[in-house]
Amino acid sequence: MPIKKPPSTKQPSPLSRIGLTTPAALVLHLPIRYEDETQLEDISTAVAKGLFSAIQTQGSVISSQVVFRPRRQLLVRIADDNGELNLRFINFYPSQQKQMSVGVHLRVRGEIKLGYSGPEMIHPTVIVIAPDSPLPQQLTPIYSTISGLGQGTLRKAIGKGLKEPEIVNFLMEIFPKEVLLHAKYPMLKNLPSLDSAIRILHNPTADVDKNALLDRTHMAWRRVQLEELLAQQISLQRAHSERQKRLAPQIEIKSSGVIDQFLKNLPFELTQAQRRVCQEISVDLRQKFPMNRLLQGDVGSGKTVVAALAAIAAIESGYQVALMAPTEILAEQHFQKFSPWFNELGIEITWLTGSLKAKEKRLAQQHISSGKAKIAIGTHALIQEAVLFKNLGLAIIDEQHRFGVRQRLQLHSQNDGEKTFAHQLMMTATPIPRTLAMTHYADLDMSVIDELPPGRKPILTKLIKKSRRIEVIQGIRSELEKGRQAYWVCPLIEESETLQLQTAVETFENLSQELHEYRVGLVHGRLSAEEKSGTMNDFKSGKLQILVATTVIEVGVDVPNATLMVIEHAERFGYSQLHQLRGRVGRGAEQSLCLLMYSEPLSNAAKERLQTLRETNDGFVIAERDLALRGPGELLGSRQSGDTMLRFVDLQRDTWLIEAAKLIAQNIILRYPDLAQAHLQRWLGSREELIKA
Ligand code: ADP
Ligand code: MG
Repeated sequence: MPIKKPPSTKQPSPLSRIGLTTPAALVLHLPIRYEDETQLEDISTAVAKGLFSAIQTQGSVISSQVVFRPRRQLLVRIADDNGELNLRFINFYPSQQKQMSVGVHLRVRGEIKLGYSGPEMIHPTVIVIAPDSPLPQQLTPIYSTISGLGQGTLRKAIGKGLKEPEIVNFLMEIFPKEVLLHAKYPMLKNLPSLDSAIRILHNPTADVDKNALLDRTHMAWRRVQLEELLAQQISLQRAHSERQKRLAPQIEIKSSGVIDQFLKNLPFELTQAQRRVCQEISVDLRQKFPMNRLLQGDVGSGKTVVAALAAIAAIESGYQVALMAPTEILAEQHFQKFSPWFNELGIEITWLTGSLKAKEKRLAQQHISSGKAKIAIGTHALIQEAVLFKNLGLAIIDEQHRFGVRQRLQLHSQNDGEKTFAHQLMMTATPIPRTLAMTHYADLDMSVIDELPPGRKPILTKLIKKSRRIEVIQGIRSELEKGRQAYWVCPLIEESETLQLQTAVETFENLSQELHEYRVGLVHGRLSAEEKSGTMNDFKSGKLQILVATTVIEVGVDVPNATLMVIEHAERFGYSQLHQLRGRVGRGAEQSLCLLMYSEPLSNAAKERLQTLRETNDGFVIAERDLALRGPGELLGSRQSGDTMLRFVDLQRDTWLIEAAKLIAQNIILRYPDLAQAHLQRWLGSREELIKA
């Protein structure tokens, strides 16, 4: 019988588990922060200063005991000439207990809290030390790490990496010095070489400007930030020009009979801004290479008509169009909007979503692949394998940030035969702040609808305490009496979907009673697509006057007669959610009102959020606040899931550097394409594929 080998018990080392397998990887693993251990306070000063911020002090152990109150824990008390301090350890090893025995001198670092028996530090950093041992002269770097890999080990490994001979080569200047300069940004003259920047960051010397190092404005940081930004800019700008080598159908938006007819059928005139972005899109569509354009426009700004115009142009030129939305509700809204428009023009529309029956789905797929369907509207189902377009010319993607990069890409290359690529028009109601547009979105061309259709009155937003619910109900009643309609958005309960559902059902029942003279509907995420659209249609046609909803109505829903929105527990929602929700009203000519109902106590952040929402309707202002608060992650969505390229750049703080990097990168690509490649290799290694997508 063959002897089975026992499975290997060898674990990968902690260093390799975080990818630090080469000296190069080690030296580029830069500190995430620094600790200032250069200052020492005596105990009484520490107690006075150390609340809520880390502080360092020292003293001799005067007592050390294990107590049970209620859990087993170690209490150590240290003292110096004028003060005493408790150290509390809830988890500890016997060796630690031994180490901190009476008489030993300890240097400790942590935040001070007021405990039952006076001031204390919980789980401070502790070293055993001679009372007169000198303080470190420099800041102590702290690295991101994983359990099982201590700071000390990591520091040593990086120190060793820095001494490897190959590192000198690795950190060599790639570009001639003058390339990193720009007349508009004189600060760049002070940048150190990459090699010395990296060494300063790992081992700051005593004379380094501590504050600049801590807040990452030190020139050594600036150098690293510029390197990162250049890698990103080069990579995105190259992706942009790679795209120009691909082939796409050339589409003319001429004022053909069909387009004129469409415009004539509309009950309104296009706004100046809508006409401008149509122009921008038509220039792109006429090119031989695929468009990659993001159409931004605040909620209600009228992106759909623009999309329809582009679609008609593509269809007129003999190509098919796909319109993809992230949810069934939203896809259905588009379908309902497009159907009358396109039926009138004799254009065949196909509807394709996951909830269709197998037979209907097959039929839809057939229409798409035979070319019978001129435009296919739907959800993710449009990018499933079985869907093959005969000749896709334009892909329109609504709320693009809700799709992953790869999903959008699939639609891109869906063409039968794949000889040409479809033009892509993405749409978003979440404005992209300028710095984000310049960095993570630099491969996209941008069009902005910065004007609302005429006659819109800005939505009035009011904050109201939950205890005044009766007045809110009165408000709804008086609005409904005028023949208007209202939304009631149920609180977000992140921890439990079941609870959220339950709350929605209860709200529905309560409102049905309180406003029994009106008809109330309910939509939430657990309903089938059919049930959802049934209710939505009833609301749209006016059969229902009040729609109770969870955040499923966050995007796209368009009922101009709805003029009142109540958002319950508004303090639980984020900036962009509130803004999107509010955008469901204010879509007609009547004055609309949004009531943000909140419960006390409010956190400072929530208070600021609600006040901002009350003060402004401007999506860009709101997006900037959001960016400042939460960083780019949320806004980016799945665009670059987690793997953010800019680890050391802060989009708010480093705006000038981003602008400089953009210009420098253009110059590099033009004059030193080979060096650009070397730079990408150093900073991205294999990560570049991700960005290209
Ligand atoms: P969004 O940009 O949020 O997708 P929509 O395209 O749904 O906005 O448009 C919002 C509403 O405004 C729709 O009812 C639409 O018919 C209407 N609308 C669009 N453009 C105009 C315009 N130029 N004048 C008047 N109403 C318009
Ligand atoms: Mg829309």
